[in-house]
Amino acid sequence: MQQPSPQYHRHRHLTRAEIRRRRTRRAVRRVGVITALLMVLALGVGFVSGRMGLPAASADSSPAGSLASSSAVTTPGASSAANGGSSAPAASEPAASSTPSAESILLGGMTPEEAAEMLADPLMVLVNHHTQMPEDYTFDTKECGSATAINKTLQTEAADAFLAMQAAAAADGVTVWMQSGYRSVSYQTTLYNNKTQQYLDQGYDEATARELAAGIVNPPGYSEHNCGLAADLNSPEFTALEEGFENTAAFAWLTEHAEEYGFILRYPKGEEAEAVTEITYEPWHWRYVGPENAARINASGLYFEQYIETLQKLAAQGA
Ligand SMILES: [Zn+2]
Repeated sequence: MQQPSPQYHRHRHLTRAEIRRRRTRRAVRRVGVITALLMVLALGVGFVSGRMGLPAASADSSPAGSLASSSAVTTPGASSAANGGSSAPAASEPAASSTPSAESILLGGMTPEEAAEMLADPLMVLVNHHTQMPEDYTFDTKECGSATAINKTLQTEAADAFLAMQAAAAADGVTVWMQSGYRSVSYQTTLYNNKTQQYLDQGYDEATARELAAGIVNPPGYSEHNCGLAADLNSPEFTALEEGFENTAAFAWLTEHAEEYGFILRYPKGEEAEAVTEITYEPWHWRYVGPENAARINASGLYFEQYIETLQKLAAQGA
């Protein structure tokens, strides 16, 4: 297989077997998360009913109780659910809304209306192997790339945020470059067709050639770079878009500060993350969602796909 050309970085897709294995592990983990959530809910209900003088049905089972409180540390919604419960007694609320849903808890006590609003934010657009960028998704772009960058622009808001972030990093003595940003769908089409042609030339049939090509270059509209919100970042100390970027001062700085400027690490490290994103760890690929959204997403501990899915479920509860 050929080395990817420098015009684009390669997303290494997981093989089908890898995806299957990781999905199984993810399913096992999900059961754990749901169990923990139910325990947190039980604790919250127990807390409310305790205040109302009712017997606390489930909070007194000590193994469950201790498990629930330890899981509450990693579940940001847990404390706000308990607070919401205590400040708004269930009796004064309609029955349906007295107990926050698991999705609401996962999202820090968000309401279905807030979830719908966040989903409608163009900065929250989901683009991945399974979800094509909407055809009516339009935006203005602005240059913010380094001298050596191939694709120098991002959506204007994201470019301004990147430039502010770059200046802040520089003030801390850290150089961050934007190496590859917005790629038009037509540019992506060219990349994809060229790659497909290479496989056709090797004698593969059309369907196989397209599938093999898709393993190297995202089909048009399926790359997050098509929406102008994805930025491949590097630094003078490490210019390659490779995993070694994680050992740079630039990456350390980004890990600490990117959220303040609205960027999240889109393809995090680890099998759980890779099972969800279906992309191997990319310390260089950062996604602009805006500072407020970035803080919410990071606080949830969910990966972007999971966050969107949870928002959709919560929004549907208000419909
Ligand atoms: Zn990228």
